[in-house]
Amino acid sequence: MNKFNRRQFIKALGAASAIGGLGFPLIGKAGTAAKVVVIGGGYAGATCAKYLRIYDSDLDVTLIEKSEHYVSCPLSNEVLGGERDIKSLTFGYDGLTGHGVNVVHDEVTKIDPTKKTITTKGGKTHQYDMLVVSPGISFKWGAIEGYDEAASELMPHAWKAGKQTEILRKQLEAMENGGTVIISAPPNPFRCPPGPYERAAQIAFYLSHHKPKSKVVILDSKDKFSKQGLFMEGWEALYPGMIDWVMAANDGKVIGVDAKKGIVMTEFAEHKAAVANIIPPQKAGILAEIAGLTNDSGWCPVDQGTFESTIHKDVYVIGDASIAGKMPKSGYAANSQGKVCAMAIATKVAGETMPEPSYVNTCYSLIGPHYGISVAMVYELKDGEVVGVKDAGGLSPMKAPESTRRAESIYAHSWYRNITHDIFS
Ligand SMILES: Cc1cc2nc3c(=O)[nH]c(=O)nc-3n(C[C@H](O)[C@H](O)[C@H](O)COP(=O)(O)OP(=O)(O)OC[C@H]3O[C@@H](n4cnc5c(N)ncnc54)[C@H](O)[C@@H]3O)c2cc1C
Repeated sequence: MNKFNRRQFIKALGAASAIGGLGFPLIGKAGTAAKVVVIGGGYAGATCAKYLRIYDSDLDVTLIEKSEHYVSCPLSNEVLGGERDIKSLTFGYDGLTGHGVNVVHDEVTKIDPTKKTITTKGGKTHQYDMLVVSPGISFKWGAIEGYDEAASELMPHAWKAGKQTEILRKQLEAMENGGTVIISAPPNPFRCPPGPYERAAQIAFYLSHHKPKSKVVILDSKDKFSKQGLFMEGWEALYPGMIDWVMAANDGKVIGVDAKKGIVMTEFAEHKAAVANIIPPQKAGILAEIAGLTNDSGWCPVDQGTFESTIHKDVYVIGDASIAGKMPKSGYAANSQGKVCAMAIATKVAGETMPEPSYVNTCYSLIGPHYGISVAMVYELKDGEVVGVKDAGGLSPMKAPESTRRAESIYAHSWYRNITHDIFS
């Protein structure tokens, strides 16, 4: 295992490591390793837990994750397209154990930031010096009339990969040739801004081969969307006439459903769906709300340089649940935040100065198996907010040759292999 310690890392960054001497005052007796508990083993939390141990192998790191296996949302749209199965998106936590992370499978039900304890469904209490909360997202059930957890069994959201993805895939396989698949795209901010539009393409890929008389209609709560020009160009190139996008201004916003009858309602119309994929409005994972870490927006305000909550001291929030300036809610952003947060905690424990953080994100979207597009950005901290570095990122070019699209599809799959290796191995 290629471990390097925190001091070497800071030196490698060329950062001033003003060693403060006293370090972080621990709850336990002098000489006890600082205890960091990370809740949620997804793109953000699993990264953070692993990198805490890499940056400082003296840290006592516990990861509490409710599921024994993690199913990746990135590339889950390919399951809908029929190109991969859920197994290829599923990861265990042995890699983290190998890094010395104590992995516990349980659900956290309560955080007491005063006593610095957390309580689990399994009846255990864990003490922490520092807590990292990375529970992902939850849904605003009821924001769309008639759409609750029970309705999502009939009209799946598939916005947390796993069982929901499989329900949606089975519905696509069972529908008649000539039916309409409706995708309801949520308002901002939400997990994976290009996701609904990649999904439309992947479903169209499947339909164009198996049920070519069918259509995909995206009913949108917004008037524009991520990588819009590129998506529209790709849809037309690969699936001409098959995908319709209805913006909010043209009565695209879904306000209600009748899940049993397969009806999706907008303000002025009712749409009959052969398959309805309702992606509801979102907020931070429910635990963040229970713990009082959210503000009126439903997301968690943090110091964007360290990800420490601005509401509770020594509690950090990373990933989709956090308000991270201009960064989108993506797996790559969550991975980047996990590393920044790990460094913030490691330096705080040591009483050292946090190096200037840098953040990165690239979102690839697969319009077809050999047709990829992307948006990339490097971020910096300016006046307390994460903002894009001028001229550091960009979009795939419009009207690019087939070879460019093909190359980007290869980069997309390679990105997935690399990032999941970075997190779970
Ligand atoms: C269809 C789709 C496609 C996507 N494609 C991409 C892509 O190509 N690239 C990209 O960068 N991003 C993509 N994303 C976005 C990406 O999945 C998320 O941004 C990312 O998963 C966020 O990571 P997270 O750690 O914040 O949350 P999650 O990955 O959801 O992890 C949260 C974890 O916390 C656990 N948890 C929650 N509450 C508790 C609790 N109380 N106790 C214990 N454990 C708990 C959950 O079980 C879960 O494992 C996609 C998303 C979707 C839906």
